[in-house]
Formats: sequence, structure tokens, C-alpha cells
Amino acid sequence: MDFEFNPRQKALSKLGRDFVEQVLQPLEQVTDEHGELPENKRADVRQAVRDWGLAGINLGHEHGGLGLTMVEQTLVEEQLGRATNGLWSCVWRPPVSLKFGTQAQIDDYLIPSACGERRGCFAITEADAGSDPRRVKTKAVMRDGQWYLSGEKWFVTSYNASDFIIVHAHVDDDPDKPTLFLVDKPVLNMTHVRSPKFMHNFAFDHAELIFDETPVAADRQLGEIGQGFELTKDWFVEARLQIAAHSIGAATRAAEIANEFATSRHQFDRAIRDFQGIEFMLADMAVDIFAAKSMLYRVAAEIDAGADRSRVHAHASALKLFCSEASGRVIDKAVQILGGRGYMRENPAERLYRDIRVDRIWEGTSEIQRSVVGGRIRKHGMRIYSEAFET
Ligand SMILES: Cc1cc2nc3c(=O)[nH]c(=O)nc-3n(C[C@H](O)[C@H](O)[C@H](O)COP(=O)(O)OP(=O)(O)OC[C@H]3O[C@@H](n4cnc5c(N)ncnc54)[C@H](O)[C@@H]3O)c2cc1C
Repeated sequence: MDFEFNPRQKALSKLGRDFVEQVLQPLEQVTDEHGELPENKRADVRQAVRDWGLAGINLGHEHGGLGLTMVEQTLVEEQLGRATNGLWSCVWRPPVSLKFGTQAQIDDYLIPSACGERRGCFAITEADAGSDPRRVKTKAVMRDGQWYLSGEKWFVTSYNASDFIIVHAHVDDDPDKPTLFLVDKPVLNMTHVRSPKFMHNFAFDHAELIFDETPVAADRQLGEIGQGFELTKDWFVEARLQIAAHSIGAATRAAEIANEFATSRHQFDRAIRDFQGIEFMLADMAVDIFAAKSMLYRVAAEIDAGADRSRVHAHASALKLFCSEASGRVIDKAVQILGGRGYMRENPAERLYRDIRVDRIWEGTSEIQRSVVGGRIRKHGMRIYSEAFET
């Protein structure tokens, strides 16, 4: 087993780290204070993503992307996760479900999304449909050769950075026909109700939208009728890896800050790291990071090795669960070690503390990940998690 990264992988990790330090970190405080990335900074960051060669990070060359392996993507994303305020989201990741579109949809949406000319957001969640998307009420009805969407969507992340929305709706109000639709902005009969404030001050917004007989051309249906969940499955796997990578980057930065502080801060005539209460916290933080990173690279390597889809799905849930919870533990301890300074908004540990909480909620809550893991054990036995190779 070779745990050493090759020079290309190390270079990508460094690229991610340099991008964070030189482009994203200078934007952290202004984003936090403004509530989101100020409008007048957005074009420059978008251009920086291109200039630094980070556009199309999750796409193959055939779609205008960088053609990175999952391990390579993960190494970059882990570094991006060091940025506070969700600024990692400035490095766009076009929705992979677009790969299953028609050639015209690939040309009109996916390829322009690779270079950042276009950007899409995802609208599944509703007031009454969160963990259980079968409760989605947004319906799509075909009339005179055109779809009409009606319903309300919540928490649509990066709506204000996007020019199209992938909407999950039930054709004819039938939960057995979940289907995706590409909705271009602006569109008739769609209202942006509001973009509420959240615990974190994220780079972009999380919008609430109402569709009221919103017309969508027939050729904007993505995939087949009823394929809505199938097309988003790969997206969920990718998103769960991405969350795991970001949360590890965030935890590592907070742990480094706390570790340095534990050496320089003196109370009762000694460095606070000389108190076992502090040293044990640092030890637990390091162990959590070590375990989380080991899992992350393993799952990414399994994907690159072409592991069975259901195994990847099972492992991605376990990974997202562990990493999001471990990073919560690590950053909480970092704030504790920093004392009052850890509670100041100007301290990255404080911002990361707020940022990281959502990782236990979005893209499947911790409880949903546990039920996925439990379900996989029920179906395949413990070996799906306990054995290193497919048996
Ligand atoms: C900042 C933010 C950004 C988001 N971005 C997007 C986005 O871009 N697009 C989008 O479509 N959605 C988005 N979401 C929605 C997100 O995916 C949902 O919030 C999440 O899936 C949980 O749904 P819910 O909030 O309705 O909670 P609920 O599903 O109502 O859950 C409430 C509680 O019940 C628990 N629970 C539910 N079912 C079970 C079960 N079977 N077993 C045990 N416990 C259970 C949950 O774990 C949770 O603790 C975003 C959310 C946030 C907060």
C-alpha cells in the first residue's frame, strides 16, 4: 500500500492552499461582515478561479474540465475548506447530473458551466420536504407541449450566483415520477421570495422561490420522467466527499491556530499546552483529523479504482457523517483552547465554528447518514465497512 502522494497530487494540494491564502482568505472578513461575498468582488474571484487553472474541477476534459481523479479533486477541495464563510464555493462545481442530459443540454449548460460562464443551483428542499423528498409538492404538468412548474423551494444555495436552477418536481403530482427541470433565469411566473440569514455568513445566498405555473420548454426536462433521484445520486456522493474534504480543511486550520496559541499563550507561568487539559484536547483533535483524512483518501481512491456504486454510496455516507461530526468536535475544542479570542469574529476559528455546523445538516443530516449506514449493514453485513476490499 502506498500512502505517499505523487508530485502531481502534491502540486494540486499546494495549488489549492495557495489559492486559499492568496485569493480567498483576504475576502473572509469582508464576507462575514457584509453577510455574503460583496457584489463588487465577485467578477474578480471568478476570473481568479480561471487564472489559477481551477475552472471545471469536477469535470472531464470532454466537458471542458480539468480531468482530475477523485483523489486529486479531494486534495484541492481539502485545502479550499480552510477558507471561512463558504468561500470554497467560489470554485464552482457544475452539477454532475447535467452529464446525463441531451447533447444540446450538455452544450448549453454543462460546458459553459465548466469555465464559469454559467452556473446552476439545485432546488429540491421545500417547507414540508427535507430529509424525505417524496413529500415534495412542486409539480410539473405538461400542457400544449410545454411544462408548467408550480410549488415552493427553500434553501436554494447560490441562487444569486446562478443563472439557471435545476428544479426537482413531481410530474403530475406523482411522487413516483420525480423529475429534474432546467429553469433559466429570469423566467416568467417565478418569484424570489427572500434569502434569509443563516448561522454562517456564506459567500452566496440560500433562496426561497415560488413557482406558479412557471413555463419550462419540453427540451429543458433533464433525463427521463421519474429519473430525478437516480440523476442526483452521483451528485450526492460527490457532494458528500466535498463536504468531508472541506470539513477536514476547516478542522485542520482551526487546530493549527489552536496549537500555535497553546505554545505562545502563557498563564500561571507556563504555556497553556503544558496543562494536560489542553494537551489532551490537542491530542484528540489530531486523532480526529488523522482518522477523517484516512477515510477521505480511501473513499476517493475507491471511486478512482471504479468500486461498485452501492459500495461507494455506503462509504460516502459514513465518510460525510464522520468528517462533519469530527470537524465539529475539533473546531469546538479549538475555540475552547483560544479562550475569549476564540469567540471573536475576527478569529477564523470562530467563523469556522459557525460555518461547520451546517455540514451535519445539508446533503443529508447525520441521522439520515446513520440510517443509510444502518441500511447498508442490514443488506450487506458488517463487511461492507469492515473489509478493505470488495468480497
Ligand atoms: C444552509 C443550507 C443550505 C442548503 N442548500 C440546499 C440546496 O441548495 N438545495 C436544496 O434542495 N436543499 C438545500 N438545503 C436543505 C437541506 O438539504 C435540508 O435542510 C436537509 O436535507 C434537512 O431537511 P430539513 O431541514 O427539512 O429537516 P428535516 O428533514 O425536517 O429533519 C428535522 C430533523 O429530523 C431528523 N430526521 C428526519 N428524518 C429522519 C429519520 N428518518 N431518522 C432520524 N431522524 C430523522 C433530521 O435528521 C433532523 O434532525 C440546505 C439547507 C441549509 C441549512
